[in-house]
Amino acid sequence: ILEKTSNLDPLTRTYNRRALDTYFDALCNTQGKTPDSRILLIDIDDFKVVNDKYGHLAGDRILIFLAKLLNSSLRDGDKVFRFGGEEFLILLNRSTDKACESIAHRILESVRTNNLLYKAHKINITLSMGSARFKEGDTFESFIERADKALFKAKSNGKDQLVIGT
Ligand code: GH3
Ligand code: MG
Ligand code: MG
Repeated sequence: ILEKTSNLDPLTRTYNRRALDTYFDALCNTQGKTPDSRILLIDIDDFKVVNDKYGHLAGDRILIFLAKLLNSSLRDGDKVFRFGGEEFLILLNRSTDKACESIAHRILESVRTNNLLYKAHKINITLSMGSARFKEGDTFESFIERADKALFKAKSNGKDQLVIGT
């Protein structure tokens, strides 16, 4: 059902916010059967600077580049959603804190070390991430809120890092 065009973000071809709502409803309704789901909430660091320095189109290219990188870092069944402008959300099924941390660090490292070439500019970005673990009784909002708190900590700790939330 997620594969419908109305569920895809036209720029990055990741799932959009609408798909996320649908998917989470399903997840919350089958909570007993989907233990150990985790989310990684991802926000590009200082993206406003990238847009200001290289232009909005360069920013768009970065978003496409990042979406590809995220998708290629995941296992089958894990999903990437565009959560907001320059924010992505990864949903990991049957994950552990350790597995989640190792995926996150792999992504952080590969984003940090890969430049995007845009009109002879080498553009480098970093990411901040917050994670959260699905708890019984969670709603979409309560689940996301814990990841968002962790993400906020990652930003205030100096960015380019993951903070593991509860
Ligand atoms: P921080 O490290 O705190 O996250 O700083 P930031 O500059 O990334 O955060 P802020 O929220 O101030 O800026 C987000 C920017 O993302 C502003 C907006 O113009 C840009 N943005 C959002 N959606 C898009 C898009 O689709 N394309 C481009 N090029 N830029 C976008
Ligand atoms: Mg943001
Ligand atoms: Mg940002």
